[in-house]
Amino acid sequence: MSISINKNKCVGCRKCLSVCPGSLIKLDKESKAYIKYPKNCWGCTACLKECSVEAIKYYLGADIGGNGAYLYVKQKKNELIWNIVDKNKKNITININRKESNKY
Ligand code: SF4
Ligand code: SF4
Repeated sequence: MSISINKNKCVGCRKCLSVCPGSLIKLDKESKAYIKYPKNCWGCTACLKECSVEAIKYYLGADIGGNGAYLYVKQKKNELIWNIVDKNKKNITININRKESNKY
């Protein structure tokens, strides 16, 4: 499991760097985030929840999707909207109150 970061969306705010418990994310010379150690990502999703521009995708393992299925998080006022895109590009959304977000 791992994430990917869309450099075209990234605005270099560094929030994902500061929350990653393994310090796996760095900024490149253009101040765009990238994951330096993808194999060490254990999928905590902290970085997804912090990114306000939906630049980070989290690829789902074979046990919960696989075949290119991924999720990303949208921020909307007090909500985090979890978007799951399955292998058929079907989109499933789950809305979570931000104050409850660390329960999941
Ligand atoms: S999912 Fe967690 S461990 Fe993986 S890069 Fe994001 S914050 Fe770091
Ligand atoms: S949180 Fe999003 S916008 Fe900010 S540095 Fe990370 S990927 Fe870029």
